[in-house]
Amino acid sequence: MSIERRAKLVEKLFYQLEQESAQFQKASGLGCVAGCGKCCTHPDVEASPLEFLPWAFHLFLNGEAEKMLMELNQTDSSICLIYKPTPGVNRGSCGSYKYRGLICRLFGFAANTDKYGNLRLATCKIIKEGQAENYNTTSEAIDKGLYVPVFTEYYMQLNQIDFHLGNIILPVNKALKMALEEVLQYYAYRPFPDLEKSDL
Ligand code: SF4
Repeated sequence: MSIERRAKLVEKLFYQLEQESAQFQKASGLGCVAGCGKCCTHPDVEASPLEFLPWAFHLFLNGEAEKMLMELNQTDSSICLIYKPTPGVNRGSCGSYKYRGLICRLFGFAANTDKYGNLRLATCKIIKEGQAENYNTTSEAIDKGLYVPVFTEYYMQLNQIDFHLGNIILPVNKALKMALEEVLQYYAYRPFPDLEKSDL
């Protein structure tokens, strides 16, 4: 399947998740603290290359893919290279929010299944403690059947687009690098995509 097609299918999945997350956030009343970005600074964020394919394709179309690949090859940081700290404060935000990965979209507003088969909301300490009442009410509502997006279900849907790139889970900067390499290798011997003519 072409890069354009795969990128489009991943974006379609993101769109579906956006609708479901909006519904869940409305029902739960939970929300991120504006400008927080703390979860992005966690050194153990892991992702699949496939969830960053739309991001890599976007950079490629804008002639920025090689430069970013060079930066990824040179960094020894384990914090996502897309993250942009806000100068002077202990905060920051995603430098490419529109093209952020699946993990970035799920974390905070999706659930994992625990060893007893129950859904457990996976969110950060800031939300758990700062919005404790809403968090507790929402956890109870999930037990009683409130719909919440589920990590494994979304990753399964992602795998169906490209099993190889969707099934590899890597530290986030390695996933970014692999997504860029996939796009650059694909177009190394192919003409630049003509999006006007493409049958996405
Ligand atoms: S892609 Fe954006 S939202 Fe995801 S970890 Fe990196 S900076 Fe954070």
